[in-house]
Amino acid sequence: MNNKKTTHPLLTQAIRPLPDALAQRYGAWYQGAFQDAKADYQHLADFGQQPQAIVISCCDSRVNAVSLLGGKPGDFFSHRNIANLVPPFQENGAYHGTAAAIEYAIAHLRVAQIIIIGHSGCGGIKAAYAIHSGNNAGGDSGGDSGGIDEASFLHKWLQIIKPAYENALKSGDDTTRIHALEKSSILHSLNNLLGYPFVAEAVKAGRLSLHALWHDIATGQLYAYDSAAGEFVAVAV
Ligand SMILES: [Zn+2]
Repeated sequence: MNNKKTTHPLLTQAIRPLPDALAQRYGAWYQGAFQDAKADYQHLADFGQQPQAIVISCCDSRVNAVSLLGGKPGDFFSHRNIANLVPPFQENGAYHGTAAAIEYAIAHLRVAQIIIIGHSGCGGIKAAYAIHSGNNAGGDSGGDSGGIDEASFLHKWLQIIKPAYENALKSGDDTTRIHALEKSSILHSLNNLLGYPFVAEAVKAGRLSLHALWHDIATGQLYAYDSAAGEFVAVAV
């Protein structure tokens, strides 16, 4: 940060004190949840993390995948991105945040499961559906009222879903097809995962399994893909 050539002129102005409301929420967490689990945190600090799984879920603020699985700190290595996607394996010089998270989880933490959790009403899937079906209205304007700007990071990211879209339902109304794409894109991501050599190797060695889950936000119901049945089946509660 002392290198003037790389320090943005807006940096000092941009960094502000934490808003009071958030500081108060932190205080409540510190006095409550943290005190209740203080010994657990000390243990995690002393011995490091040994999570059992990596969970890949959407950035959507309504989704709390770790909570959904009863996770406590240390249980799950967590990665979130738009529409809970795994891009295909690519060897190039670009920055690959999702690939780096998966690589660390498998090669270093040696987690036993990769769990992808999709969800109902996913804005990313809906946008991808609009793009790939040619209904990305206002595609060069961006914003909530128009489509996704073709030059945007988001538009590029949602290209990951294209093969899943092409294999998706050819009939039914838009709502049905978007709903189906929310699920089929998860399977497409699992397929992409097997293109990562360290994932395929761990699966072959029998020390890693892949899991596709889909969460209905309104009902709270979780569905798991059953490969024998070829469909998502409600997890018993
Ligand atoms: Zn989403």
